Amino acid sequence: MNCRWCHAAFAARGGGSPQIFCGAGCRASYHKAARQWCEREIAAGRLTVEAIRDGAGAAYTLTPRREPPVPLPDIGSPIPRLWPRCGRAVR
Ligand SMILES: [Zn+2]
Repeated sequence: MNCRWCHAAFAARGGGSPQIFCGAGCRASYHKAARQWCEREIAAGRLTVEAIRDGAGAAYTLTPRREPPVPLPDIGSPIPRLWPRCGRAVR
């Protein structure tokens, strides 16, 4: 996968929402640039605050994930391993 901001290749973490940036720095840079662009568009009269406010619910919605999430490896429960030790310590 490639970062949407810097285009560097990265290995996406599993689970949660789809990862589109390689790290927090690129995510912050993207949001800062988006804010600045938005303010310039409003100042130029090409975008209105009302359009942003009215579309706020849908504007940030990510496209639904098509494939199921990556299953976590079965790490088992620690309880069965711990109980016998507890039993010996008590006796
Ligand atoms: Zn990046």
